[in-house]
Amino acid sequence: MSNRVVEGRMVTPGKLAELIEGEPAMETEDIEDADRTCPDCGGDVLSVGYMPSVTEFVVGYKCQECPWSETDR
Ligand SMILES: [Zn+2]
Repeated sequence: MSNRVVEGRMVTPGKLAELIEGEPAMETEDIEDADRTCPDCGGDVLSVGYMPSVTEFVVGYKCQECPWSETDR
């Protein structure tokens, strides 16, 4: 587990995936630092790989400072 601070709150990989996806993911990998900055605020961006369903794996990106997020879909 690699908990990180996002928008002032400590989140687990599962919680981060839920923030990005809008609902809980089945499986999540560890949170990593994405090599990019937020297009909205310039803040640091985290990435987390997760499985929203048994047949799908996506990498989600989430800004640590603001609500911006996206996935690699
Ligand atoms: Zn941001």
